[in-house]
Amino acid sequence: MKNTKAFLFLSLFLLGILAGCSSNGGQKEAAGGDKLQVVTTYSIIYDIVSNVGGDRVEIHSLAPIGSNPHEYDPLPKDVQKTTDADVVFYNGLNLEAGNSWFEKLLGTAGKSGDGAPVFALSKGVEPMYLTTEGKEGEEDPHAWLDVQNGIQYAENARDAFIEIDPDHAAEYEANAEAYIGKLEALHQDAIARYSEIPKEKRVIVTSEGAFKYFSKAYDFQAEYIWEINQENQGTPNQITRVLKVIEKQDIQGLFLETSIDPRSMEMVSRETGIDIKGKVFTDSIGKPGEDGDTYIKMMEWNIETILAGLTE
Ligand SMILES: [Zn+2]
Repeated sequence: MKNTKAFLFLSLFLLGILAGCSSNGGQKEAAGGDKLQVVTTYSIIYDIVSNVGGDRVEIHSLAPIGSNPHEYDPLPKDVQKTTDADVVFYNGLNLEAGNSWFEKLLGTAGKSGDGAPVFALSKGVEPMYLTTEGKEGEEDPHAWLDVQNGIQYAENARDAFIEIDPDHAAEYEANAEAYIGKLEALHQDAIARYSEIPKEKRVIVTSEGAFKYFSKAYDFQAEYIWEINQENQGTPNQITRVLKVIEKQDIQGLFLETSIDPRSMEMVSRETGIDIKGKVFTDSIGKPGEDGDTYIKMMEWNIETILAGLTE
């Protein structure tokens, strides 16, 4: 009898421990599972969305940091994450259009229909267009290089989160307000710093013509080897064209994007004798812990690099 009681007690005790373990584990899982599952197409909007989503979201970003988001081959895990996502963010304005990779991914992941939780962060941005023969009328995607558009992206992310997860609207509002405050300061800083460059020196030359929105916002002239990323290398015709453009002007320096093969720009530098003055961030933020590893830091980096490159 004593033994039975002791056994019963021990059994209950062990059951209690087990129940405790499983309920703790369950709670942890619930906390993780509570977060909105988010997919973004590339690193710049990953960073903007993570600032607005804060602790409420868990984000999987598709095109890796440092890569070219114009074309991307989704991996099996990307398809899985997109299928499971509560909300998907993309840039729009033709960015994710190469090989229709993003459209195909949404189709495979069952997220292509009307009412799917898929949001273009560039919604409301006034589009600018390509000018290369045969591509006229295609939207230029690089709106984020004008910080005012970055603010629009943050507002769009906030509105989408509130629509998908209205219970936490106050949190998204507060996160967005704090973040947009920083972006407004960044935009004013960009205007002030760039105004230190004399007007006649405000010409930047990059591999890809990613600086249209930037040029309009900060009063630059932007030249390039090719207008939009496809092959990531300039053709002989494109190189010849940019050499002629450079010849006619007093160019202070060339700039090389972090997400682009350097060889074409190095060739232009050799041919013209004009130095590459530094790296600039266009289609990707920097790797974590390295230069430009957030949207704000990449824009600050660009300000410093362009200012130094054109005025030294
Ligand atoms: Zn690009």
